[in-house]
This record gives sequence, C-alpha cells and structure tokens, in this order.
Amino acid sequence: MTNAALPAEAVGPASFLEKRPLQLYAPPEKPSLVGFARAKLAEALATVGVPERQRRMRVQQIWHWLYVRGAQSFDAMTSLSKELRGALAQHFTLARPEIATEQVSVDGTRKWLIRLPGEIDGRPHEVECVYIPEADRGTLCISSQVGCTLNCSFCHTGTQRLVRNLTAEEIVGQVVLARDRLADWIATDPPSNGEVGGERKRLVSNVVMMGMGEPLYNFEAVRDGLHVVADGDGLSISKRRITLSTSGVVPYIARAGEEIGAMLAVSLHAVGDELRNELVPLNRKYPIAELLDACRNYPGLSNARRVTFEYVMLKGINDSLADARALVRLIKGIPAKINLIPFNPWPGSKYECSDWEQIERFSEIVFDAGYASPVRTPRGRDILAACGQLKSASEKLSARERLTLRAMAMTD
Ligand code: SAH
Ligand code: SF4
Repeated sequence: MTNAALPAEAVGPASFLEKRPLQLYAPPEKPSLVGFARAKLAEALATVGVPERQRRMRVQQIWHWLYVRGAQSFDAMTSLSKELRGALAQHFTLARPEIATEQVSVDGTRKWLIRLPGEIDGRPHEVECVYIPEADRGTLCISSQVGCTLNCSFCHTGTQRLVRNLTAEEIVGQVVLARDRLADWIATDPPSNGEVGGERKRLVSNVVMMGMGEPLYNFEAVRDGLHVVADGDGLSISKRRITLSTSGVVPYIARAGEEIGAMLAVSLHAVGDELRNELVPLNRKYPIAELLDACRNYPGLSNARRVTFEYVMLKGINDSLADARALVRLIKGIPAKINLIPFNPWPGSKYECSDWEQIERFSEIVFDAGYASPVRTPRGRDILAACGQLKSASEKLSARERLTLRAMAMTD
C-alpha cells in the first residue's frame, strides 16, 4: 500500500498549504489480518488454498473471530478446521499495532502512543489514540496520518515535517487495540433464542477521527477502515456514532457523506477569511463560503444529524464577543452544534488559550442562539497535559454554562 490515495491537488505547487507525504508504508513480510475488510480476507483465504465456494462462509467466521471476539491467536478460532488455522498461521499474524506507552487517568481516560512500522528522520512512526469514558458512552479518538500534510498555525501536528498516511488496517487497528486493552470483546455468543438482553454495553461506543492527520487527505483508507469499524456483524460502531473531523477539504466533503456516511465535524476556528487563511491556510484554497456550502449540502443532514463546528479559543485572536455573534450569524440555517475547544499550547506555539471568563461569555452567546451542546467535563486532564487555564478554570463552571470540551490533546 502506498500514499497513492492522496488527492492530486494535495501535491501541487501550493506547497505552502500542503506538504507531500513522503514516507511510504512498507508492509511486513507476514501481514496481520487485523483490520482487513471482507474482500481482503477473501483474497487472503485464496492464497492459502481455500476453494472459492467456501470463501464466503470462512470470511464470515473469521470476521466474527476478529471483530466480535477479538481473537488473538488462530488457535482460538475453534470453528475453523485445524488445517486452515495452521495454514493461516503460516502466512499471516493477528498482530495489533504496537503500544509504545499507555497512560491511564484517574477519571478512566486512557491514552496510547502507538508505534507503527517505518520511521521518519530516525524517529519511529507514532500516532496517539485516546479513550474517553462518560456516563452514557465511551469515545475513542483515532488518528488518520502520522503528522499532517496541512499546516494550521495553532496545531502541533501541523509542524511535523514528514507525513505518512495510515493504512485502512492501521485505522481499524486502533479500535481493535482499544477493545483489547479495555477487555471490550464479547466473550460468548448471544443465546440461540435470539434474546440479546444479557449482552453488556460496549465500552467503546463512539469513534471520533480527531487525532493526528487530515482524514480527507487519506480518503480511501479512512473510508475503507471506517466501513470495517461500522460493520454490524463486527466491531459494530454505527455510522451515527462515528464523527470525522476535517479542516475543510471541500471537494471531499460530499464524497465523505456519500461514501462514508459518518457524522461531520468541521474545524472552522474563524468567522472571516483573512483570519482563517492564517489559522487554517487551506482556507486560501477553499474559503469559508465554499466550506459552508459544502456543509449545507452534506448528505443526510437534519436536526437529528447535525454538523459540528469546532472553534479553538485563541486569546485576543478569535474570541471576541463580536466573533461569537458573527459565528452564529454565519452558520444560520445549517443544522449544527458548536464545539468550543480551549487552545492547548505546545512548545513554540504563538497563541494563548482564551481566559476562562471569555470562553464563558462567548459560549453564552452561542448558547442563547440555540446551539446547546451536550455538557461534558474536560477529561483526562492529569494525563493529557491540557492548557493550564482549562485545568483551574473548568472547575468553576456550572453545568448549564459548560459547552462540550472534547479532550483535544491528541495534538500536544
Ligand atoms: N485534521 C482534522 C482532524 C484532526 S485535528 C481537523 O483539523 O479537523 C482535531 C481538532 O483539534 C481540530 O478541530 C483541530 O483544529 C483541533 N486542534 C488542533 N490543534 C489544537 C490545539 N493546539 N489546541 C486545541 N485544539 C487543537
Ligand atoms: Fe492537520 Fe487538523 Fe492539525 Fe490542521 S488542525 S494541521 S488539518 S491535524
């Protein structure tokens, strides 16, 4: 697999907007089946001599072992013959992405640094993946690229010079790995009478693609990976519970709606093109008006299926009350939620996080305009090294005033 999936315009002369992903993925000699889609599994079975007429059934069996039971060895796949298990083990593994470090917060948030094959400038390819448990759901934040081809001025990932696209399997692998670490697999089949009452709730119930990378610049792998994640006979995280965040790759937004069908989040961060050009340089190519048109036309949009606009709070830059009023005017008519994100500083960053009082005032205008978001406390603060203001100030918040503050420290 190579980076051929990159849109042609992403490697054009406008390199100030976009870097070219130089690092190619070198597949291991003995590939892992983890993350494989059904078609690839069928090909794998062909290579070990499974006759065509049996392949569909075998694929379904292996699918169940991989994505419902989380089998970690071929020997565990007891519905397969011994011969087939042996043949598979000769040519394939069930290896997961390697965990370089695991951190567990006092509130249950977990953060994994994942090491993938390959290296950049002598450093290994690494991405972060975070699990955020809440009362009614458990959200896994996953990455789409090592680094990012874009250069948003407030984002640490954007400063990484070299980039590699994750494969579809590596995208799925993050979900598999989280289910492993959380013991979130289904141990037994549901009762044969069809009752599912005994089945416990899954810990990883939602996925957000808000980690490292721009998912729409790795379109095919993200699409193929998310199809595996959403498959109802497997990992079974429905598309309504998967959110894809983009910095605004306009030509791919409609395609994402049609071919992936996940919920859409858009990193807006500014209400005027001049400032957005600076914060999200891709705006020079796809300005705000075009971006909002693409959001308005996002397939399947409704009051029950809203776009989330992400807005990072940068002190003195985009956080005035006039900005807040302009924001609600700008998105009028689009079924939307607004996600205010406290800026998370990093060494060398040139911005500061807005004062908490200012975030409150800003959020009140957004709230009064009818954009209430589910109230959530920032999570995993002890391990995520979020911005200093957030830690002290969030404790002062009343429930009504709090807007959704997703743990955004994937970029730290
Ligand atoms: N590339 C995609 C998704 C990954 S970034 C995108 O840009 O949407 C996920 C979110 O984190 C985006 O909204 C991004 O703007 C935000 N973000 C990046 N750096 C941040 C920082 N230092 N502090 C707070 N949010 C940040
Ligand atoms: Fe890339 Fe998103 Fe960071 Fe921009 S904010 S550099 S698009 S990861």
